[in-house]
Parts: sequence; C-alpha cells; structure tokens
Amino acid sequence: MTDYERANIRAMQGYSWGEQPSDEQTIKLNTNENPYPPSPAVDKVLQGLKGNALRRYPDPTATGLRKLIAQTHDIQPDQIVITHAGDEALRLALTTFVDPGAGFGMAEPSYSLYPVLAAIQDARVHRVELDEHWLPDEQFATRINAADCALTCLVNPHAPSGTLLSTAQLRAIAAELNGLLLIDEAYIDFVDPAREHNAVQLINECDNVLILRTFSKGYSLAGLRLGYLMGPTGLIAPIMNKTRDSYNVDHISQQLGYAAFADQAHASKTWENVRMERSRLSAVLAQLGLHSPPSETNFLLVSVPAEHPLDASGLYTALKSRGILVRYFDSPRLRDKLRITVGTEVENNQLIEHLTDLLVED
Ligand SMILES: *Cc1c(COP(=O)(O)O)cnc(C)c1O
Repeated sequence: MTDYERANIRAMQGYSWGEQPSDEQTIKLNTNENPYPPSPAVDKVLQGLKGNALRRYPDPTATGLRKLIAQTHDIQPDQIVITHAGDEALRLALTTFVDPGAGFGMAEPSYSLYPVLAAIQDARVHRVELDEHWLPDEQFATRINAADCALTCLVNPHAPSGTLLSTAQLRAIAAELNGLLLIDEAYIDFVDPAREHNAVQLINECDNVLILRTFSKGYSLAGLRLGYLMGPTGLIAPIMNKTRDSYNVDHISQQLGYAAFADQAHASKTWENVRMERSRLSAVLAQLGLHSPPSETNFLLVSVPAEHPLDASGLYTALKSRGILVRYFDSPRLRDKLRITVGTEVENNQLIEHLTDLLVED
C-alpha cells in the first residue's frame, strides 16, 4: 500500500472471486459456468486460427458480431456495443454515466462486483433491500430516486436467488426512475421459454434502459471474456465512441463469439439441459430439506434449515473436503444459504450422493 493511490481506492475492498481449482477432479458448482461445452463451431475456429491473423488490429467495433446479434434480437447494430465480458460493460456504464460522488443504486443482495466497481468510480452506493421473494418492492424506485442515483443495476433473473422479474415490472421501474436502469441479463438464456420473457424491446420504449448480456454463462465461454450492452443509440454512442478502450475486443474473441452465437441450436440445447437438471435437482434437494426459490437461472439458492447438524458454512466446508465446490456468502440474508450451480447429470448425482450422506441420519 502506498500514498499514491486515490483515497477511494485505498479505502475500498477488491472483489472476491469464487475459487478456481486447478485440478480436473473437483466438481465445480460455485461460479455458475455452463456445465456443457461450447458449440463445436468454436473448436473449429480455434483450430483454424493463424498467428498472422493477429498482426493487424482487430475490427474496432466488432461489426460482424454486432450485426449478427442485432438481427437475432431484432434491434439495430448501433444499439449494441461489444465488451470484454459483462464486467467491462458494467465498468463502462459507471465511467460513462456516473460522476464521482454521484449515486449508484442496487438491490441487496445482488452481484458483489457492483459495489466494487462503484467504489473505483468513487460513486455513493445506495442499496435497497429486496422483499421476502427476492424481488424489488413497490417502493424500490422511490427509494432509489430519494438517494439521487445516476445509475441503478438490477440482475434479472436475479442472482443469487434465481427469481425473475417480469418485463412489465421492469418497465414500471424504468419509467419511475430519474436515472438510468441497467438490467443485468447474465442468466437470461436459462429462463424457461414458456414464460415468453423478453425485455429487449424496453431499449426502444425507454430512453434510460441498458441491457447487459454475456457469453460467459449461456454460451459456455467464461474463459474467453466476451459480452455486450444494448440500449438506445443515445446511450450506446458515448460508450462506443468515447469511453471504451479503442480495441476493447480482440480478434480471437470476435471470431469465437461469432461462431458460438451463430450456433443458437447448440446453445439452446445446453439451456434446455440445464433447465431439466435444474428442476430435477431442486426437487431432490427439497426432499433433503434444502429448499430453494423457483430459479430461472443455472443455479439454486438453497436454505440450510437450522435443525440440521451442519449449518450452511459447515456444509460448504464438508462438501469442499469431498471435492465439491459450492458458494457460501457470509452476509446477513445469505449466511444460512448456499448457492449451487446446476451441473451435468453426473455432477448433480455426485452432489446429491454426498449431501444425502451428510444430511440424512440412518
Ligand atoms: C457472470 C455475471 C456477469 C458477467 O460476467 P462476465 O463473465 O464478466 O461476463 C454479470 N452479472 C452477473 C450477476 C453475473 O453473475
């Protein structure tokens, strides 16, 4: 630590990553990666890559990928900016729209990176508690407005609970907010299509809505670092033309992202598999006393009942010693819970076996 840091950087805490074990045996259900591999088209592009393709700078605005994504979402390419994963999209939203000292709004609990990025920007973080169903209550926008927030982030479907807010509810919140609303759709691909959820058109209806997407979860490319922001051109243009790094998305990411996104059939199949495993896993865990709210994501937030011999933290440690990683958050509403990523059938069966062993007395 030196005196050269800005005061807000000196005072802040960095982000805590979920553990990333280097061995292949650990069953990794702690950071919500897609358990299935990306499209075979991604492997094909990887195999065809030549070093000489990296001699020149990449397409500065990722034109091909933006056109493909725009077509799929039925919006215009200038309503999209491609980013170095979702995390860069969040940082760009803060640096573009939030003055140092201005308000940044978020739901509590929520993605633990938000307050870290807000602290870097030296913004005032204003947290509004979610209701008992993990949804914003009727006072949400009023409270955010009272704290004068320039930008508010809502994860939908919500992390870490998995619950989904309807487009109508999002529209109402956006209409009431004085500042911008960034809807973080990191897990949107896992929503049951029967719900017919689609919030993308809000960027055409509202002048204050941004939507974040990532290739990390839905497209099985967390190791690549690729994402995008959608919004009205008036909000996308300053990011595209001013605040992002001049070549923020490299050539390889543009090629691989294109291949993965173009193969919607493959990606959709992985989402469908995750949904099937999600409903099976949540039912089995409930039988073991580990209940979770209905999840539209690729994870479950299970409560560990007080009468169990192991509390949530103890269960986390016991699973870890058996080679299964899940996520434990030591914060007021989460300390009696575990967030468990839905794995493959084989991984989920092992999880179930160990939990049965740990929780069922014989
Ligand atoms: C995973 C995630 C993101 C984006 O992650 P990247 O890997 O940086 O794209 C954004 N928000 C939430 C809530 C997430 O869980």
